[in-house]
Amino acid sequence: MATAYYSQPAAANYHSPSSSHHKERGYRVCDTCGAAETPATGRFRLCGGCMATQYCSQDCQKADWASHKAVCQHTASTLSAAKQQTVSGIAEENIAKYLRKFTSSFQDLLSWAGFQALQLRRCPANIRQQALLIELDFHNSSDPMRRFTIKGTHIVPKTYVTGSDPLVAAEMERRDERSRRAGGIGSVLIIIQCGAINQVMPVEVDSPAKISWDERGDWAEVLNQFVHSGRTDFKPISTTARGIVYG
Ligand SMILES: [Zn+2]
Ligand SMILES: [Zn+2]
Repeated sequence: MATAYYSQPAAANYHSPSSSHHKERGYRVCDTCGAAETPATGRFRLCGGCMATQYCSQDCQKADWASHKAVCQHTASTLSAAKQQTVSGIAEENIAKYLRKFTSSFQDLLSWAGFQALQLRRCPANIRQQALLIELDFHNSSDPMRRFTIKGTHIVPKTYVTGSDPLVAAEMERRDERSRRAGGIGSVLIIIQCGAINQVMPVEVDSPAKISWDERGDWAEVLNQFVHSGRTDFKPISTTARGIVYG
């Protein structure tokens, strides 16, 4: 029986960066208003219930509570149940924590891989039915960036997680709608799995016309290489009138 940890990744939500200011690497986005964390805003607050969703201010946190409450309590209760379980001698709770760190450190790479794997430039409709499942192996490494390697990647139906978890399904639905209202194509579902633990990562995707990334058939190898070497400096590759742009 797999345990699904819903996690809103630290700002993996991919909005078109405004041309007037440069997008910071690993930036966080307020889950209510979409503001990006910058040195000027100070650090965003994490929801104390689920430790997964972040807000720019107390006002935004309050405004979101009615819609966030259900998934928040769900995440908190799966986390507390995980205290009893172990994976290779490590408490599931800690694996879940490492997975969250992994997802947030590699968010640009993972979002890009999801976009490529589902071929969203050519077939944006794939976002409705398919999800990218990334299976990981755990290594008890002292280097936090090298605790996981890629065991395999698979395209699975979205129902892989939403079918058994109505709360996560409702949360995905909410993000799909929000993305479409903003002119996007919906929310791509990326599932990060280690043993029996799932981490769910929804990434709201802009209209492909606004995304300049090249289509890459070698995304799985690129993903593997960056994760294997613990490199968190991935930037999508795009070809523009100015030539090939890395990042
Ligand atoms: Zn906000
Ligand atoms: Zn919460």
